[in-house]
This record gives sequence, C-alpha cells and structure tokens, in this order.
Amino acid sequence: MTPSSVAKRRCRNHIERQAACRCPGCGFDFCRECVTEHDERLLCSRCMAQLTGSIQEPSRSAALRTLAQAVAGIVAAFLFFFLAGELTSMVVSPSHEVRAWHAR
Ligand SMILES: [Zn+2]
Ligand SMILES: [Zn+2]
Repeated sequence: MTPSSVAKRRCRNHIERQAACRCPGCGFDFCRECVTEHDERLLCSRCMAQLTGSIQEPSRSAALRTLAQAVAGIVAAFLFFFLAGELTSMVVSPSHEVRAWHAR
C-alpha cells in the first residue's frame, strides 16, 4: 500500500476526510473517527451495530428458555398436584374408579 493510494481513499461518511483504514466487515474505507476497535479489529459503526445485534441474539433465546422453564415448572407442578390428588382420592375412596365410570 503506497501513501498515494491511501490519499485517494475517502471516508465513506466524511467525503472530505482521508480514510485511515478499511473496515474488514464491509470493505469500505473509513476515517479514524468512524471506526471503533473491537476484538483487536477496527470496525465501522454499522458493522459494530450488526455485531452488537448478533451478540444480543443469545439474550432473546435466554428469555425464551426462561419462558420454557416457567411453562415446564407449571406443567410439573400441575402434574404433581394432579397425581397427588389422584393418589389421595384413590386412598380415601377405593371406589374412585367406579364413580369415575358412572360420571361419564
Ligand atoms: Zn463496516
Ligand atoms: Zn469518517
């Protein structure tokens, strides 16, 4: 890379400014102010936002996992009380199955 070729490059956001580096994400040239260092790489704000968006992805699935855990907990609690109720009614009244038959 010769200095003359660098001088021809302009920042994508600031046409009057010289490009300091090229964003490895999108391949456009940007000035020093338009790039942010991330993971030892210089990314433009747009690629940085995309990267941050992809980082936020797990938090959404984590919320889904929490919801799934809550639903599983409710189902487990329901099953527990249902089975406990069945067990109790069986113990209290041995004719439970006969009454259930008549109820249909
Ligand atoms: Zn970029
Ligand atoms: Zn710029």
